[in-house]
Amino acid sequence: MPFRNVTLTCPSCRPHTTLTAQESGAQCGTCRGWFFDEPTLLERIRKANPGRRLDELLEHNDGTQRRPCPICHTTMTIVWFEFLQLDRCDIHGVWLDRGELDRALAWDVVPPNLPRPSPAMPKPEAPPVDDGTAMVAWMNSFTIRHD
Ligand SMILES: [Zn+2]
Ligand SMILES: [Zn+2]
Repeated sequence: MPFRNVTLTCPSCRPHTTLTAQESGAQCGTCRGWFFDEPTLLERIRKANPGRRLDELLEHNDGTQRRPCPICHTTMTIVWFEFLQLDRCDIHGVWLDRGELDRALAWDVVPPNLPRPSPAMPKPEAPPVDDGTAMVAWMNSFTIRHD
């Protein structure tokens, strides 16, 4: 139990919410986010996805506002697990918002607005070719009737 004797402040619900230490990490009872030390988190993801390779979380700060570490309160950096954006304190661990742990464990890391590659998925239909008929029909609707 890595966080047993420390008080962890939720980086999301600060300043009055503390995280509850669990078996392998600490969870916020309010926002349901999780904090893990990084090796524990990577180990859990690897165990849940035996066929996949995961060596490290890549750090890339894209300018989004960052949150403080639950333990030392220094600003965390942004790390990426594929398309999943997580916060990491280099010393203490990784913060996952509600739902992100489940997505990480399920390797469900492609954002919903990106097409998910799947061999079973039919190719998207090509957009209809604009051959001008729609425009002609529209112009015909303005034809002056002589009656
Ligand atoms: Zn919280
Ligand atoms: Zn820290």
